[in-house]
Amino acid sequence: MTFEIPGGAAHILRVLTDAGYEAYLVGGCVRDMLRGVPAHDWDVCTAARPEETEACFAGQRMIETGLKHGTVTILEEDGAYEVTTYRTDGRYSDGRRPDCVRFVSRLEEDLSRRDFTMNAIALSRDGTLRDPFGGEADIRAGRIRCVGDPDRRFQEDGLRLMRALRFSAVFGYAIESKTAQAIHQNRAMLDCVAAERVNAELSRLLTGPGAGEVLREYPDVFCRFWPQLGPLVTLEQNNPWHCWGGWEHTIRALEAAPDDLVLRLAMLLHDIGKPACKTTDEAGVDHFYGHPAVSAELADEMLRALKFDNAVRKQVTVLVKYHDVPLEPRSRVVRRWLNRLGPEMFFQLLEVKRADSMGQDLAQTAERRRRLEEVRAKTEEVLAQKQCFSLRDLAVDGRDVLAAGIPPGPAVGRVLNAVLEQVLNGGIPNERPVLLTLVAELAEAAPGA
Ligand code: ATP
Ligand code: MG
Repeated sequence: MTFEIPGGAAHILRVLTDAGYEAYLVGGCVRDMLRGVPAHDWDVCTAARPEETEACFAGQRMIETGLKHGTVTILEEDGAYEVTTYRTDGRYSDGRRPDCVRFVSRLEEDLSRRDFTMNAIALSRDGTLRDPFGGEADIRAGRIRCVGDPDRRFQEDGLRLMRALRFSAVFGYAIESKTAQAIHQNRAMLDCVAAERVNAELSRLLTGPGAGEVLREYPDVFCRFWPQLGPLVTLEQNNPWHCWGGWEHTIRALEAAPDDLVLRLAMLLHDIGKPACKTTDEAGVDHFYGHPAVSAELADEMLRALKFDNAVRKQVTVLVKYHDVPLEPRSRVVRRWLNRLGPEMFFQLLEVKRADSMGQDLAQTAERRRRLEEVRAKTEEVLAQKQCFSLRDLAVDGRDVLAAGIPPGPAVGRVLNAVLEQVLNGGIPNERPVLLTLVAELAEAAPGA
């Protein structure tokens, strides 16, 4: 196999080896090359001590921020490269960076501190792989396996648990059984991982093609940082629409959604309020009245706990809140929703509703999806025709209202909204003369409005 190494990385390897130091590409870039996908960051490891690395690149720009951990960032023409001295790690107390590191002289020692076999492969300038833990074979088999004893490795650093699940979801790799068992057993290690770090891994995991499978296999891990998922995982739903329990329904709905973070989060959380709303009627059928509002509240709390940003949190909670509303393919209905959510979010709501129905009995819900397609087509028509659905599109504005004799102040907004209301309803067209007449009537009926 030949590898395409960017010029900057090749230059760094050459300078270090010419100076007599071992130097290798290592970690994610080697893994990605072996997987046959583009690599995104090119890390170099070397036997040279940090000050020796700096001496090799004297005269070149570099950044010393990682010096404590043995990392010098070298700025090449095509980008920045981290060059790290072979090291072993001390204790991890922040779940990411070890408190202290010890420089070592053997590559194998450096590779043995790395999390998974696929991430513990080094590649030299001349294309030789150093792969003491069988990472290449694991990549070929699509397998995630800890370097060394899985229990110990997860106990050192709880973030590795989430990394394993994320790699599994994104690459579609299976997690080797001892590693998998250790993930379940050590899930409490997540308690010491910062919410931001869990968030970063979770966000990548949920948008991966294997996200559903990971949720199916590791609900206990997800419940560790989001205990609110617990009752959903065990929820049974005896209801003609539902052929699945709450968790399997959620997973199928998530799998049916596009791989967009907001949509995937909305699907994961759309029914989170169901357990709290469950009632069973005399016929033994389960109902979940009012669950969307309860789900939206719980989702808000959960997204805050994991420090999702405000924009994501707001979009997700709105989609959760409205995921169950009935929609009809009529201009009037569509204009109201466009007014409430705006086009982008309304199209997202259609995706959510489609995905939700995919998590139910497919034959029974086919008609529902056909209707949703009609709503989408109608929405596109309303937008293409530039129909009015917001104050901004109205053929009159505040100046017209003032000119009709309404005094400046909140009354102006009230009149405009009353006009918009009629246009949304389809009672009158969005045409200036018609609207001016209406404004005049409203001004006359209530001069102070
Ligand atoms: P990606 O960059 O695609 O997310 P990556 O494996 O390159 O994946 P980085 O965070 O860039 O992830 O880490 C680079 C390398 O450092 C990894 O390949 C692995 O060898 C090592 N590594 C990263 N995080 C850990 C960890 N928590 N424990 C042990 N080794 C780690
Ligand atoms: Mg990386």
